[in-house]
Amino acid sequence: MKIEIHPLKKHELKPLYTNPNELGFCKLFTDRMFVMHYSEVDGWHNPAIKKLAPFQLEPSTIVLHYAQEIFEGLKAFRTKKGEINLFRPEMNAKRFNRSAARMCMPAIPEFDFLESIETLVRLEERWIPSTTGASLYIRPFMFAADTTLGVRASSTYTYCVILSPVGPYYAEGFNPISLYVSDEYTRAARGGTGEAKTGGNYAASLLAGRVAREKGCAQVLWLDGAEHRFVEEVGAMNIFFVFEDRLVTPALNGSILPGITRDSVLMLAREQGLKVEERPLPIDEVIGGITTGSVTEIFGAGTAASISPVGSLRYRDQDYVVGNRKVGPISKKMYDLLRGIQYGEIEDRHNWIRKVALDQHAAA
Ligand SMILES: *Cc1c(COP(=O)(O)O)cnc(C)c1O
Repeated sequence: MKIEIHPLKKHELKPLYTNPNELGFCKLFTDRMFVMHYSEVDGWHNPAIKKLAPFQLEPSTIVLHYAQEIFEGLKAFRTKKGEINLFRPEMNAKRFNRSAARMCMPAIPEFDFLESIETLVRLEERWIPSTTGASLYIRPFMFAADTTLGVRASSTYTYCVILSPVGPYYAEGFNPISLYVSDEYTRAARGGTGEAKTGGNYAASLLAGRVAREKGCAQVLWLDGAEHRFVEEVGAMNIFFVFEDRLVTPALNGSILPGITRDSVLMLAREQGLKVEERPLPIDEVIGGITTGSVTEIFGAGTAASISPVGSLRYRDQDYVVGNRKVGPISKKMYDLLRGIQYGEIEDRHNWIRKVALDQHAAA
């Protein structure tokens, strides 16, 4: 791919943040973005890195009406030695194309997807925080660009990558959260778009998220769309339960997003000698297990928080407290392992890390 890089003048560059601990999550964006376009005749064309700027869209642009859109989320980590690590970005490339296929959108060659990210991250290297726990969040996305109100797949698309420095997720400590188990709303159903990373799934989840917060919970734990009987996921995280010596997570069934953190946790847990089960998991079994004490830990797993310990579930107006609202040993172990690998402090035996080659001259 021949990327056209628009030079930025010194005075066009934004001032860097001063305290990485106060960055929060994706409030600030870097100086540049990657953009390329697709049409049926030309395929993907005009890849460019230019100054981050608003898009000009016709009011009739398809994505604004019918939500034909997909995205990815991954992070770049700066190690103590100053190297820049990406964590399993090939998995994001593959998942992006699976989401694209589900949403009738064109694929991007994996190599080009990775090159778009690596080239942009290299140019924006100065934005990557060096505080452990802080990182650079990478958001690749694609949207339908035809201008029509006819309901059909677009014939033109825009692909874009933007970057945001993010602070340590656990700035206030690695504290367990409460989840609200919704048996009223559903995020996704079998045959729907639950396993695609597409904006519509998030739009569908907002109202339940509001209800969760009104009940004092941080997020929603979703049940299956057909019966509200089986546990699915948390909406931006997959979910894990420790039943005594077994680690249990819902099997991928078509309505659960196949998380890369989920996949990594499963692999690390097996290597730690834990018994691992991926299977349909009834909410009644979870509630029963919490009540009898056989569920000792619950945690979410996703790129944003990596591991998020869960201290309680709220289900049918009852609170079920897990592990005295303390962080359990398996949650902590998984967190330490992931973080250690991502920041280059634990040997990368799985070949999960992809290093971004740094260009000394680019760090303007
Ligand atoms: C992105 C996402 C996850 C987590 O996936 P990771 O690859 O681990 O970040 C889980 N659920 C949903 C709905 C998601 O969109």
